[in-house]
Amino acid sequence: MMRREKRCWRIAYILSILLFLNLFFIALFSISKENPAKPAKKLIAIDPGHGGKDIGCKGSKGLTEKEITLKLSLILRGILLKKPNLNVFLTRSEDVEISSQERVSLANSKGADLFLSLHVNASFDKNQKGIEIYYYSEEILELPHSSTQAQVPNRGTQYGETSSLIFLWNEAQNSFIAKSREIATFLENILRNSEGLDFRAVKPAPLVVLTGTTMPGIVIEIGFITNPEEESALSKEEYLKNLASKLAEGVSEYLEE
Ligand SMILES: [Zn+2]
Repeated sequence: MMRREKRCWRIAYILSILLFLNLFFIALFSISKENPAKPAKKLIAIDPGHGGKDIGCKGSKGLTEKEITLKLSLILRGILLKKPNLNVFLTRSEDVEISSQERVSLANSKGADLFLSLHVNASFDKNQKGIEIYYYSEEILELPHSSTQAQVPNRGTQYGETSSLIFLWNEAQNSFIAKSREIATFLENILRNSEGLDFRAVKPAPLVVLTGTTMPGIVIEIGFITNPEEESALSKEEYLKNLASKLAEGVSEYLEE
């Protein structure tokens, strides 16, 4: 009697181990099915500079910075969304005014992996031309500034530049300086070697739109609206499409690495 009871316990013990192993492998299989080894999509925040009453800088033919940045951003979004591992959102997709702080907090709250702010440059000298990329740094190149604020080079109120071009001190971007400089240089290499585009420089500056962002970020000044040739180019959809495709190529290649 005792021996039979013992055997029953042993069988029950073995069965329970088999049941446990069975459940364990079912759970393991379903977990691996739910989470296939696919990398998560990277999120890019595209920030079309200015908007609404804040027109940005204005060309001699009446072309405004806010129009160009929005047009380019929409084209760039379209191209980037075709890439399988990228997601995109715009800080504004209409002609509305939005503060620099709102742009930054939108990118932060959505957990963007990269922040691209698009602007158009202006200068008193109409011969100045080319694309510039800025990354956040406390380092300032030839900029008039005080300890708390400074102005972007080559910009004046006559071009309609307003609050987004005032710099404020902030620590948030400090830990992303190296990455931001890296993406700026990565894009420089692609844009410098692209037909139909004129690349000028990569520069550090404490830009307000980059302060406070908790991800790598850059400001791309896509050309000088005060240069007649560049104003004409910036008004053409074909030019913006070419620029957008090169930017998309650089961004997606960089984020894939
Ligand atoms: Zn601007």
